[in-house]
Amino acid sequence: MNFEDFNFHPQIMAGILTAGYQTPTPIQIQAIPSVLKGQDVLGLAQTGTGKTAAFALPIMQRLLTTGRRGQVRALVIAPTRELAEQIHNSFATLGEKTGLRSVSIYGGVGMPPQVARIKQGAEIIVACPGRLLDHLNQKTISLAHLEVLVLDEADHMFDMGFLPDLRRIIQHLPRQRQTLLFSATMPEAIRGLAMEVLSRPVTVQIGSTAPADTVSHALYPVPAHLKTTLLLEILRHTDTESVLVFTRTKHRAKRIGEQLEKKGFTAASLQGNLSQNRRQAALNGFRDGTFQILVATDIAARGIDVSQVSHVINYDIPDTPEAYVHRIGRTGRAARTGDAFTLVTEEDGPMIRAIERLLGSRIGSRRLDDFDYQAPPPKVDQEFARPPHPPRSTRKPAGGQPKTLAARRPSRATPEAAPFRQERRPTAPARSTRHHRPSSS
Ligand code: AMP
Repeated sequence: MNFEDFNFHPQIMAGILTAGYQTPTPIQIQAIPSVLKGQDVLGLAQTGTGKTAAFALPIMQRLLTTGRRGQVRALVIAPTRELAEQIHNSFATLGEKTGLRSVSIYGGVGMPPQVARIKQGAEIIVACPGRLLDHLNQKTISLAHLEVLVLDEADHMFDMGFLPDLRRIIQHLPRQRQTLLFSATMPEAIRGLAMEVLSRPVTVQIGSTAPADTVSHALYPVPAHLKTTLLLEILRHTDTESVLVFTRTKHRAKRIGEQLEKKGFTAASLQGNLSQNRRQAALNGFRDGTFQILVATDIAARGIDVSQVSHVINYDIPDTPEAYVHRIGRTGRAARTGDAFTLVTEEDGPMIRAIERLLGSRIGSRRLDDFDYQAPPPKVDQEFARPPHPPRSTRKPAGGQPKTLAARRPSRATPEAAPFRQERRPTAPARSTRHHRPSSS
């Protein structure tokens, strides 16, 4: 199937060309015809499948070919600022030639510029629930002419406690509308929400909740006290484009980001305590390659779209099998390939088995040939020891230059100075993994 088969307006076809999409992804093939017909859709699809374009393209076709311009007719609600910004950017790229206007609305930044952009005649709003409610309460936004509502990553909105806000927002919307709800998983609460907000929906499902099959998975068993040492060894021995490292706590994300930097890697950490500016700088730096490694907690990483992530490394195993799927949704996106490595300690056995049940297959274990798995715990716990930083000018990476990562990257730029760029264009992936010996788990 080709994009031509959907009979999109030439201005939309121009946007698809700009984005560089050649063929529609499975979720696009399944969802676009129903959305074009005006049907409600329940989409079971994780991030990375191309679901944003699956709703953005047919919504823009509707806005372009019917009805009035200059008033809000489509609303997308997303759980995080990053996801909202990413969806807004997708509308901007795909709708570049359409003249349609999209505005992103989220907290942590001033309201007046958002109000000004809405007043300029935006047709599409991409919003996080809290700030959208503020606008609705202050009557700085009118949704009286809304035709299409999209609830994206509904399961994350539920996890983050947004369901009451969503219900309040929905009361402000016309009853007569098209509603699309996307979720990677379908807990009971989301099923209930779907029944409330959707009318005779068409269900489209991509690979149940299994992750993209372009991702290969591996376990790295390790004693807990050697996790950081092993992480460094894996990074040194693996050719990677860019790496997203997940930790359980924000404290640990910060500390590991610092340790990687000390060892000469270009790394940043993303955790809930950062200001919006610093978050954006870390994300931009990761997107444009200034930072090759981003260390993040699950919450902080929500909504990150980094098409070029070649490796996801679970420093800590996630709390649920679904969270594993969400984490590795950041790699192997839309038919590119990626690797997902998980450091596992003895107590992680039950969660690994639950993840394997969800994946429907065993995950192989790997050992590094020249790694000392018997090494005693360091005298001071590596993860939490924090030697004072020397002055910037005298700071040097400890332990010599890593073999593959930092050597290929420019030295760290000031994050605040990093320009905003949209996703990097694909380059030839370098994924060979050396010195890794598979072993049966
Ligand atoms: P999403 O699941 O919407 O977050 O999309 C994941 C990534 O796939 C984004 O970087 C999109 O730009 C990209 N993408 C979406 N549709 C296509 C397509 N048809 N061909 C290639 N890449 C795509």
